[in-house]
Amino acid sequence: MIKYITDKDFQRKYGSQKACLTALLNYRISEDGLCFNGCKAPISNYKYLSETKRKALLCPRCLHHTYPMVDSIFNHSHVAIEDWFQIIYEMLRSRNGISANEICNRYGYSYKTAFNIIHAIRDQMSKCVNFRFVNEAVEIDESFLRSGNKGMKKNTSLGVGRGNRKHTGILCIVARGGAAKLLVIPNAEGDTLLSYIQEFVDTSCRIYTDEWKGYSGLERAGYSHKTVNHSKEFTDGPASTNNCENIFSNLKRIIFSTHRSVNHRKIQSYLDEYSFRYSYRNHEDYGFEVFMQSFSSLSEHYVLRNAA
Ligand SMILES: [Zn+2]
Repeated sequence: MIKYITDKDFQRKYGSQKACLTALLNYRISEDGLCFNGCKAPISNYKYLSETKRKALLCPRCLHHTYPMVDSIFNHSHVAIEDWFQIIYEMLRSRNGISANEICNRYGYSYKTAFNIIHAIRDQMSKCVNFRFVNEAVEIDESFLRSGNKGMKKNTSLGVGRGNRKHTGILCIVARGGAAKLLVIPNAEGDTLLSYIQEFVDTSCRIYTDEWKGYSGLERAGYSHKTVNHSKEFTDGPASTNNCENIFSNLKRIIFSTHRSVNHRKIQSYLDEYSFRYSYRNHEDYGFEVFMQSFSSLSEHYVLRNAA
């Protein structure tokens, strides 16, 4: 049984601006926790400059200013950093996702701001789900998501049947007891499916799918592949795609109940949000640490600006 952190614990840890900035700095730089400027003073001694407009921390020994938010989604944002942290935490913890309207009501930001915050967080999440499956039992299935015509031009022709533009194809790759990866696919034909599978699944994996003919080329491509015939049964020995079916049913419930209708260009980011939450579901902090560590790759830009 996993003991998840409570809202109160989170509030206590990241309740103030200084706590958030110091935590962000710790995630971003120097594993040894020493001054970024090389003076060997610990980061925990940094002084928070509350009176400056750009949020900075000052090293008391070498008087070096450090800006923890540079080159991250928090940079140049008028939203307080502690609100960012709280919204990130709530998005990770929520079962069915959070809509921009909910953020508006709870934090008092405009809809546009809330929308931008949420999408910035989703984009960051997508950096944490870049995994490749190696040596695992993997289930693969495809489905279509009714995405409507939101975000399309007025007279766009939508077409009918498989491959119509009102439905977006999605591919689900899930390791049993492990992570999941969800992808928007242009169609469900053999070549398309194979190219996506080859990108994310190593040939050391055992693949289970249904009998859709799009998967018939997997064995030729060097995978060990077993199918289950859904017109007869849902499990055939180890072969089943029940984890995929679960994910699709949850995902559709989230999209149609929390978000109502989504822009077809943004669907990949909703999928990334879902796969983040699914893949890190066993983490005590709902994956908050993983999320923050995705800021850690400091760009050269940041180092140069600070060294100057
Ligand atoms: Zn220093």
